Amino acid sequence: MNLEVFVLGTGGMMPLPGRGLTSVLVRREGELFLFDCGEGTQIGLRRLNLRWKKITAIFISHTHADHVTGLPGILMLSSQVDRDEPLYIYGPPKIREFVDAMRRTLDMYINYEIVVREIEGKCLVLDAEEYGIRSFPLQHTKQCLAYCIEEKKRPGVFFPEKALALGVPRGPLWSRLQGGETVGLPDGSMVAPAQIMGEERKGRKFCFVTDTIAASGLAGFVRGADLLICEGMFADELAETAAEKKHLTAAQAARIAREAGVKEMGLIHYSPRYSERELKKLVQEAREIFPASFLTRDLQHIEMPFED
Ligand SMILES: [Zn+2]
Ligand SMILES: [Zn+2]
Repeated sequence: MNLEVFVLGTGGMMPLPGRGLTSVLVRREGELFLFDCGEGTQIGLRRLNLRWKKITAIFISHTHADHVTGLPGILMLSSQVDRDEPLYIYGPPKIREFVDAMRRTLDMYINYEIVVREIEGKCLVLDAEEYGIRSFPLQHTKQCLAYCIEEKKRPGVFFPEKALALGVPRGPLWSRLQGGETVGLPDGSMVAPAQIMGEERKGRKFCFVTDTIAASGLAGFVRGADLLICEGMFADELAETAAEKKHLTAAQAARIAREAGVKEMGLIHYSPRYSERELKKLVQEAREIFPASFLTRDLQHIEMPFED
């Protein structure tokens, strides 16, 4: 089962030639989840040639222009898409007002339903059969949310030889056992799934955190993530500016990643003051604290395989 991340843009504040605004698309089994949608997000989607017109849900961190002004374009381009399911847009308060005003003033005719859900703070935003999507309140100059996609545990590995040794014949009883059912055999004995299967396996966890200071509880929210995409807007020498504007430095992001024990952390939402070459400084500072840090790049494709 594929879980893939496509980095559509990595910049903060304004798009630059060669650096789009922070936006990440996650694809899981044909479902597409878009995290933030600044001006020009559709360029990244187009360049990656994704079947993005079927986006399942859009998650907005906050209503600052660099995170939402791509929405009109995305909705306009996909307005005539043939789809039965609604498009969900999640975000903090004001997101509904923004979407409604834009549809009204731009006279947008969209031939499917758009459902806007406003979220405040910590929520289970979406509870699907195989995964959940949660939000967490960040600390920025306005209400802002982090999100994570967390897969539920998967059943353990099935050992056919154990089943045969216990006298369970190949066939429907095997699938019932794999489905978690205890089954009875013709000789009257009972066999439980735990006797023929390994332990439950961990699902994967992806987190998207941008525009915040090191909010309390944030490390707990991203704990154990396989991939944390986290704002690292400034180098250490601008820590004061970062605090004033309520943003994270790369080193602060690394401290969160270390405390949370994540597997890998990709920096994002770079200040436009840094050229591509100068971004090295950010990742160097992060790696001193958390070695598995990297710079996300526009159009980067990251696969998230299962651990086992
Ligand atoms: Zn921003
Ligand atoms: Zn912001």
